[in-house]
Amino acid sequence: MDTEAGLSKHLIRLRLIEPPRRDTPVIHARALGPLFHGFAEADYACGSCDAVLCAGITPGHLAGVVFRCWCGAFSMVPST
Ligand SMILES: [Zn+2]
Repeated sequence: MDTEAGLSKHLIRLRLIEPPRRDTPVIHARALGPLFHGFAEADYACGSCDAVLCAGITPGHLAGVVFRCWCGAFSMVPST
């Protein structure tokens, strides 16, 4: 258990996918650390290494967006 008291955030692990087609837009994380910062309750994490790619996201936002983590894995934001 690593939840901190009073912290309402929850981690959503993105769906690990195969490398997408070349015409698929991909957001590349070139270093460790979130690419997006918001003030909502969820964090999106790489489906492979659990690095946080988006912090403070509203669950469901950026659905269908593909991220390439600095670890090299491709992850897609789930639509639900
Ligand atoms: Zn990763």
